[in-house]
Amino acid sequence: MAEFRTDPLRGHTVLINSQRGNRPSEFTLNINTPDDSNCVFCRGHEDSTPPSIEQDGTPDWNWRLFPNRFPAVLEYPSPLVENEFTQTAVGRHEVLVETAHHYAQPHEYGVEQWVEIFQIWQRRLRALYAVDGIQYVHIFRNQGYRGGATLVHPHQQIVALPLIPEVIARRIKIAQHDSTGCQHCTWIERETFDGARMLEKQDEIIAFTAFAPRFPFEWQVYPKSHQCFEELEGATLRALAGILRNGLISLKETCGNPDFNLVLFSVPFRGVGRRLWALDILPRISTQAGFEWGTGVHIVSTPPEEACRRLRANWPS
Ligand SMILES: [Zn+2]
Ligand SMILES: [Zn+2]
Repeated sequence: MAEFRTDPLRGHTVLINSQRGNRPSEFTLNINTPDDSNCVFCRGHEDSTPPSIEQDGTPDWNWRLFPNRFPAVLEYPSPLVENEFTQTAVGRHEVLVETAHHYAQPHEYGVEQWVEIFQIWQRRLRALYAVDGIQYVHIFRNQGYRGGATLVHPHQQIVALPLIPEVIARRIKIAQHDSTGCQHCTWIERETFDGARMLEKQDEIIAFTAFAPRFPFEWQVYPKSHQCFEELEGATLRALAGILRNGLISLKETCGNPDFNLVLFSVPFRGVGRRLWALDILPRISTQAGFEWGTGVHIVSTPPEEACRRLRANWPS
């Protein structure tokens, strides 16, 4: 199989070529991880980070949220510049330490632990969109070295931006209804009917392997209708937590505990049409090289229909 596919919900094009998986590889990579003795995210080292914005107890907290000591965008930058090609990077950059346990793995988290994390996301989305000038709030989790994590201790990042990045703008546009209908609603119906990529269905949300994945075994969770993430209630958050937990367990079993990125997409609630959210899980099994950097087209060697069959075989029931 060798075919180009365009993602119906995100707009990018990829190349799926199952023969590429048979290429020989001569390289090995060994990552040495330090122990927890000097970890700035462990309990007792709170002085090594900025003070908490929120935490769930003192001193024995289970999670902490605080400003990033090395922010990508600045709360009080100077000078302020805005012209055709330059815009000052004003915004907020926060870190959520998910657990006090240095060696915890995300596939081990229980449903209630994920629900608590999603509720923190809801509060931060509300709080950060209320800040003047914030256009998009990006929430993500980097797992492992290949996922881009620089510290082992389980954590996530929340970045509030003064602009809407191009890939987000494209995704927001796809989620809107026009005279021909809505690509989101049409595609969700099609995925449900087709079933070749379906991982799990709940009342309001579904999970499937991405039609046009950028990484092998990439999968996504979408609501069936147009929902606002900040307004999801307990039962839906629990369903979402259950799906995420099942998927992370299956990914670990199927692919040998790969590094990954977990990304929330969420249409901002100011000034744009229909609301929508999605979770993207991007296993960092392949790397991006000259072809990807030069063309923007990712080559993936595992067709998503095969990835779905293999993930489903290990999916907890
Ligand atoms: Zn730690
Ligand atoms: Zn729609």
